[in-house]
Order: sequence, then C-alpha cells, then structure tokens
Amino acid sequence: MNVTCEKCQQTLTLREGVFICEACGFHLPAQAVCPDCLQPLNVLKACGAVDYFCPQGHGLISKKE
Ligand SMILES: [Zn+2]
Ligand SMILES: [Zn+2]
Repeated sequence: MNVTCEKCQQTLTLREGVFICEACGFHLPAQAVCPDCLQPLNVLKACGAVDYFCPQGHGLISKKE
C-alpha cells in the first residue's frame, strides 16, 4: 500500500500507526486493517493498551508496536 502526502506528494512512511511525510512533516493516522480479511478494524482502548477487533469474526488483533 502506497500512501502519498496530500501537500507534497511524497510517499509517506508508516510509523507506529501513523503515516509520516519525511519531507514536510505531515501526519496522517493510519487505518488499521485485519491481516486476514483486510477490513478496517474496530479500536478497543483499555488499561492504556490499544487492541483491534475484527468485525468480520477474526477476533482480537493485538498490535505490539
Ligand atoms: Zn509532505
Ligand atoms: Zn478479519
């Protein structure tokens, strides 16, 4: 997946769930997707941790980043 900066059209770097433009510093929150079905995940926040839940039945997907 290639995402480009809406300001300068550089390819964004994905870092800790955020797309970052190295050229101008533009930040874009990344949408987490299920590795099995590639559908957008629901975000569950509990106890300071963030977990992702697949609405298509693939269950909890924990990101360790
Ligand atoms: Zn940029
Ligand atoms: Zn899934």
